[in-house]
Amino acid sequence: MTHKAYCKQFQVPLDGSLNLADIDPDFKGHHENKAAVQDEIACYAKRMQELQYLLYAENRRSLLIVLQAMDAAGKDGTIRHVLGYMNPQGCRIAAFKVPSVEEAAHDFLWRVHRRAPARGEVVVFNRSHYEDVLVTRVHKRIEKKIWQARYAQINAFEKLLTENGTHILKFFLHISADEQLQRFHKRIKDPARHWKISESDYSERQYWENYQQAYTDTLNRCNTEQAPWYVIPANHKWFRNLAVSRIVVETLEGLNMQFPEAHVDIKAIRRKYHRLANGHE
Ligand code: ATP
Ligand code: MG
Repeated sequence: MTHKAYCKQFQVPLDGSLNLADIDPDFKGHHENKAAVQDEIACYAKRMQELQYLLYAENRRSLLIVLQAMDAAGKDGTIRHVLGYMNPQGCRIAAFKVPSVEEAAHDFLWRVHRRAPARGEVVVFNRSHYEDVLVTRVHKRIEKKIWQARYAQINAFEKLLTENGTHILKFFLHISADEQLQRFHKRIKDPARHWKISESDYSERQYWENYQQAYTDTLNRCNTEQAPWYVIPANHKWFRNLAVSRIVVETLEGLNMQFPEAHVDIKAIRRKYHRLANGHE
């Protein structure tokens, strides 16, 4: 299967027809298990490094990767296993928690825009402006007319970014409610993971269906050619890593990046300093 097929396969259709309930979080394509894809993932990791170097050198465009998911769906793991291969110089993670008092006193995009990537940078949003149409809606912290208006505001914001050289990829890591519970149990059993557990992880489960509905609406309403959503089946962590890295590589390859021209006359430098180094002058 080619990259292109993968990219297309997981992209949310632009006609607004996505229903999350129809997507199998257990999907793993024709791959058997983790061992079968390890080499492939390693190839993508290497290619991602090269492409990121080029993006940084070119210093013209940028890449914004948005990660959204239910708790324990693997945002942290995706960052570590997939994006962790990039050079920290030129790569940044921005995590969005409950807004501070200062942040909450501004429009919801205020804290987001300032953390968007600069030219040449790759930035990963660990949660994002999408929380403002998800958690806020599910918990009825804002009125319906407010979150409904935000879809257009988000689309306009992302249009601004893309028209100014930022490429946007948005991943929803899709796990099942059962898989989430199993992951919580694993955390309970492992003292090294106790710090990850919060009471709200469990209490939020009662809103599972509300979240699925809010995600379905959001993924349909804020999905454009320039800033597409991908739904990644994420019950198998290795498949999630494979799919995300493939899509990132394909996107970067599609930019047709070039190393910039040298700022100096390389021939003259070679003539002058190589002779010096060889003791000719
Ligand atoms: P983990 O998966 O490790 O738990 P996390 O991303 O859930 O990581 P937490 O510190 O547990 O990190 O949670 C951050 C919380 O902040 C989430 O519950 C999220 O819904 C909430 N949050 C983020 N942005 C907003 C927002 N704009 N308004 C309200 N809540 C928000
Ligand atoms: Mg959490």
